[in-house]
Amino acid sequence: MEYCLETQGLCKQYRHFKALQGLSMHIPKGAIYGFVGKNGAGKTTLIRLICGLQEPSAGTYSLYGVPYTDPGIGKARRRMGAVVETPSIYLDMSAEENLKEQYRVLGMPSFEGIPELLALVGLAGTGKKKAGNFSLGMRQRLGIAVALCGDPDFLVLDEPANGLDPQGIVEIRELILKLNREQQITVLISSHILDELSRLATHYGFIDAGRIVKEISAQDLEAACRKCVRLKVSDVKVLCRVLDNMGLEYSVASEEEADIYGQVGVTALAMALSREGCEVYSMQERDEGLENYYIRLVGGGSHV
Ligand code: ATP
Repeated sequence: MEYCLETQGLCKQYRHFKALQGLSMHIPKGAIYGFVGKNGAGKTTLIRLICGLQEPSAGTYSLYGVPYTDPGIGKARRRMGAVVETPSIYLDMSAEENLKEQYRVLGMPSFEGIPELLALVGLAGTGKKKAGNFSLGMRQRLGIAVALCGDPDFLVLDEPANGLDPQGIVEIRELILKLNREQQITVLISSHILDELSRLATHYGFIDAGRIVKEISAQDLEAACRKCVRLKVSDVKVLCRVLDNMGLEYSVASEEEADIYGQVGVTALAMALSREGCEVYSMQERDEGLENYYIRLVGGGSHV
């Protein structure tokens, strides 16, 4: 398999704190790689390293097979565009002026590609409007357009949906899918919004305390997600008691619902609940989602 990015035993130490502790990850060419981890797990640190903003303390990484210590890394890095933390845009400039500025920085010979780029990110009609007057979603899309100026084939997005409203999230999602499918751009997205990520990602890397705990394709993850039956009842406490008595594995999903794993004897369960005066409102077969898979992997507690 050909990888856009491969890291081996990557470490980053800030004084006494180890932000990355031997991180090994593999982003296949053409993937939308969802990079998932709790606050402080090390996602932004990894992104800063591969963008060349910081040096690793140990270990190595390569972009398109070029090790970061190789003189050719600069050329390989030019195939990469990134939006790290906040988009790097000038708020007192229009979208077009922002892109012109980036073209100048990159030493591009002409501004020819700009109208197409503005149309691609859905900002063609913004005219002289300054980026400072844009919505957050528009700013995020302008940030992506700036990152696309050098015509990269690897795009790195750090929390692209952060702070966006539902409409903004949909627009970013559609843009990422378009870039990946129509322009064959490989995308690395770090995100906390697992539900959103599950609509996009073809591969996942789960990071915890500076290490990758699991890399898995979306297809394999779907197969690994356990089937369960979600039961909605009048009294979830009674349901838990009955399930404990029956020795069934479950997790409480809400004040009225629980997910039950393994073979469920539906008749026996319904009768036991009925004897305890607990009414069954609905029963639905479902797959364990990305969120539960994640929690199972790295444990609950802190926020993703
Ligand atoms: P978040 O989702 O909150 O952005 P993250 O996974 O991106 O989290 P990082 O920003 O990579 O996490 O930070 C990893 C750890 O390294 C954190 O505990 C952070 O406090 C620490 N850290 C990051 N940058 C520095 C720095 N320059 N000096 C010291 N510690 C740092």
